[in-house]
Amino acid sequence: MSHHYIKFNNVHYTYPNGYEALKGVSFCITHGEKVALVGSNGAGKSTLLLHTNGLLLPTLGDVNVGDIPIVKKTLPLIRRAVGLVFQNPDDQLFMPTVEEDVAFGLVNMQLPPDEIERRVVESLKEVGALSLRKRAPYQLSGGQKRSVAIATVLSMEPDILIMDEPSSNLDPQARRLLMNQIESFTHTCLIATHDLEMVRELCKRTIIMNDGLIVADGETHALFADKELLEENGLE
Ligand code: ADP
Repeated sequence: MSHHYIKFNNVHYTYPNGYEALKGVSFCITHGEKVALVGSNGAGKSTLLLHTNGLLLPTLGDVNVGDIPIVKKTLPLIRRAVGLVFQNPDDQLFMPTVEEDVAFGLVNMQLPPDEIERRVVESLKEVGALSLRKRAPYQLSGGQKRSVAIATVLSMEPDILIMDEPSSNLDPQARRLLMNQIESFTHTCLIATHDLEMVRELCKRTIIMNDGLIVADGETHALFADKELLEENGLE
């Protein structure tokens, strides 16, 4: 059994106000792939990502992580396997200190205290934020918050890492650190981003979305060579 792949089968999603943000999305990301999800604002990228760990459940169609279908009763299992870094770090950070935020999920998993300490230190080091461990998250800069939000997810040691706009608000040094980190992450990875340079460097495969649909899915270098395709989908 492998948890390391994720499969969308004809996924539709309609928000409670009646807006259909996903109009039948199918793809499969297999073990170890690093895939970029691109498209203009409103294309449906965030809505799609929220389906990868069951924060949203499809109106129609299904999502599977390995051989586990994402349904209400599998959510605890799914959330251990799939780590989602939100677009806005303020949605991910809510404890009085950075270290408590990073430890939060680990405490919930009832890990022993020395293992929690090891993972807190390790994941903060990985994002270059160990010196912030005693600070209050709300007092951090946007980039620092983002790094800590990433650490909260890495500390859970997910099989599949999902990131929504991870490089926005990062200074060049923090962006580089993030890219190295994504590169060294050996498991499956799906990244929604407008940072096409990052995509070019890290992701062999790209999925392009437009208006709730996947309009292209293939090798990054081939898609990025197609100027017309990029222009049609609001990508430079
Ligand atoms: P992207 O991440 O590509 O910018 P989103 O997934 O955020 O796109 O949004 C896709 C579409 O769904 C947009 O038209 C957006 O306005 C709409 N949408 C997003 N969130 C909601 C919501 N909570 N209620 C209604 N419509 C929403």
